Amino acid sequence: MNIPVLEVTNLQKHYAVYRGLLRREVARVKAVDGISFCVARGETLCVVGESGCGKSTVGKLILRLTPPTAGSIRLNGLDVTSLPEDELRPHRQRVQMVFQDPYASLNPKLRAGKIVGEPIENFQGIAAEEREARVTAILRKVGLRADAMKRFPFEFSGGQRQRLAIARALAVNPKLIVADEPVSALDVSVQAQVLNLLMDLQEELNVAYLFISHDLGVVEHIGHRIAVMYLGRIVEIAPKEPVFEEPLHPYTQALMNAAPVANPRQKRERLLIEGDVPSPMNPPSGCHFHTRCPFASPRCRSEEPKLREVVPGHFVACHLREDGYRGALPRSSLSSNRNPKES
Ligand code: SF4
Repeated sequence: MNIPVLEVTNLQKHYAVYRGLLRREVARVKAVDGISFCVARGETLCVVGESGCGKSTVGKLILRLTPPTAGSIRLNGLDVTSLPEDELRPHRQRVQMVFQDPYASLNPKLRAGKIVGEPIENFQGIAAEEREARVTAILRKVGLRADAMKRFPFEFSGGQRQRLAIARALAVNPKLIVADEPVSALDVSVQAQVLNLLMDLQEELNVAYLFISHDLGVVEHIGHRIAVMYLGRIVEIAPKEPVFEEPLHPYTQALMNAAPVANPRQKRERLLIEGDVPSPMNPPSGCHFHTRCPFASPRCRSEEPKLREVVPGHFVACHLREDGYRGALPRSSLSSNRNPKES
C-alpha cells in the first residue's frame, strides 16, 4: 500500500483571546476546527477559501511553525505532531515552504548561490565543491543561469526571485512543498511561467504540493484535488474536475459563480450568498455556513454536518447531500427575511 506523503487527522488550531488586567481568557478563535485530508506522492492538493478561512494556518501547522491544539500530522507514516524541536530536523528537510512574497522570504544580504547552498550545507553536510555543482544544477532546473549564483535577490525580477525561492525549497529534496499563494504577487504572464515550472518539477521529481490559494483560475490550472475551506472547516474535497464542473456544497457553488470567466457571453446560473463571513471568534452554530446559505433549514442551525463521501472520492459537508443527492437544491423559506447576523 502507498503511504501518503501527508496525513492530517482532525487537526485543530484554536487561539485564546485574553482581556483585562488579569488576562482572563474570554474567547477562542477557531482558526482550524477539525480538518482531515491526505496528500499522495506527486499530487497537488489545493486549499481554497476566502480570506480568514484558516487555509494559511493549515500550512503553518504542517510545517510545525505553530503547534496544533489537537489532531495529528503524519509525514511518510511518521507522526510529527508533537515531536520536540530537536527531533524536528528531518521533518524540516522533508517539508519545505514557498511563500507569497519572494522578496521578503529571501535574505537580501546573501547571494543566490548561498541562499540555495545553505540548506544543502545544513541538512546534508556536502563538501563545498560538490555543493556548488548541486546549486548550479538546481538553478538550471528552475530556469536560472549558473551566473545567477553571484547575484543578490534585489538584482532579480519578481518571477526570477520566486524561481530562486523554489530552488531553495528543492535544494534538500523535499517530499512535500507547502506553497502559500506563491504566484499571487506576480504579474499574470509570470504567474503562468511559475505555475508551469512547478508542474514540470513535480513531474520530474514526484514531489507533492499543498497549494494554498484564493485564486480559482490558478487552482484549476495546477490542482489535482481541491479542498474548500469555510471558517476553519473543510466543506468539500474532491478531484478538480467535479469541483469545477459539478460543485455540490452551496458555498463551493457560490465561489465558482463569483469567479470571473474568460467568455463574457457565457451564461450561468447565479447563486449569490448574502452577508459577510462571520467572525471565527463567534462562529454560527451547527453548519457554520447557515447564516449565508440560501438552502438552510432549521436543522442546519443546530447540527454540524459531517464531511461525507457523496460519490467515490467526493466528500461534502452538507445535510442536503448526505443521502447522495446531486441535483439542484431547493431554496429554503428561511433564506428570505433572514437576519444575516443571526446564528
Ligand atoms: Fe446550507 Fe444547511 Fe448544507 Fe449548511 S448544511 S450548506 S446551511 S443546506
